[in-house]
Amino acid sequence: MYTPPNKTQSPYLPFGDRQDAPFYFTDILSVKQFQRKDLDYIFGVAHEMSEMVRRIGTFDLLKGKILANLFYEPSTRTMSSFTAAMERLGGSVIPINEVRYSSVSKGESLPDTVRTLECYADVIVLRHPEVGSVATAAKFTRKPIINAGDGIGEHPTQALLDLFTILEELGHVDGLTITMLGDLKYGRTVHSLSRLLSLFDVKLNYVSPKILPMPEEVVKEVAEKNIVQKQYNTLDPVLAETDVLYVTRVQKERFEDLDSYEKVRNEFIISPEVMKGAKEKMIVMHPLPRVGEITMEVDDDPRAAYFRQMEYGLYVRMALLAIVLGKA
Ligand code: ASP
Repeated sequence: MYTPPNKTQSPYLPFGDRQDAPFYFTDILSVKQFQRKDLDYIFGVAHEMSEMVRRIGTFDLLKGKILANLFYEPSTRTMSSFTAAMERLGGSVIPINEVRYSSVSKGESLPDTVRTLECYADVIVLRHPEVGSVATAAKFTRKPIINAGDGIGEHPTQALLDLFTILEELGHVDGLTITMLGDLKYGRTVHSLSRLLSLFDVKLNYVSPKILPMPEEVVKEVAEKNIVQKQYNTLDPVLAETDVLYVTRVQKERFEDLDSYEKVRNEFIISPEVMKGAKEKMIVMHPLPRVGEITMEVDDDPRAAYFRQMEYGLYVRMALLAIVLGKA
């Protein structure tokens, strides 16, 4: 039987790295592994990355390092921003986004696939449809693995970039009222984000169709941190008090029957008319893709932060790559 490697004591660790640095060679699997001081550290590095990109665009911090991007589910932003992040840091990428054309289609197991990629790459970014699959894969490789979404489980790097967006846009997190809207049952980004926000003094509103509430497990974990959480099926009662409106799409691919999807897909639509009821200093976020839940007319509203949010994601992912590879 294969013995899982102890990554931070592996005899294969590269020479010259700062091995005592936080998160060196550490898998990024869940937001549960972060405390507030870790966020300060990661966002400090992300902020520096944004300055460097503005000043010089691309630089050589990870020159010679290779990232394997292994995606078993579709992705636009996560995959391309990790690629851009690695390349802006001077590294390169092995892209495997069509597992159909890899040995996965021959029946290769996930452990074997990651044990293959670790021979070529220094870090692996993995998206997979099964909850917990990334954590399992991480046990089989001596290289750090970053969870890019495990089914309806978690999407920790998205939650980090979401929080970084709130900080950059509004300047603070404590004291804010954050309203999450849409498919809270299957949306992994809100599962990670609410857990991460529970490290702060916030109020959380969950607004969803009746059949798509925030999972009990997440509500319970957040409640243990003494966070006020309220659940609604309409936006009206909470829009005026909201500082961050976090909109999500209904996750069509997770439904067993498409009739139920059709019934709820258009239940919430953010339009300029809806925005009239919101605070002047409020931001609208969305992990994207949107499929009709925010109309395009909202894009011109300065409160629409979802395109800026993607750019913040580049800096956070640059920071994470530099940190796990010991070069931050
Ligand atoms: N892109 C995000 C995710 O991968 C959100 C979504 O797909 O709705 O979870």
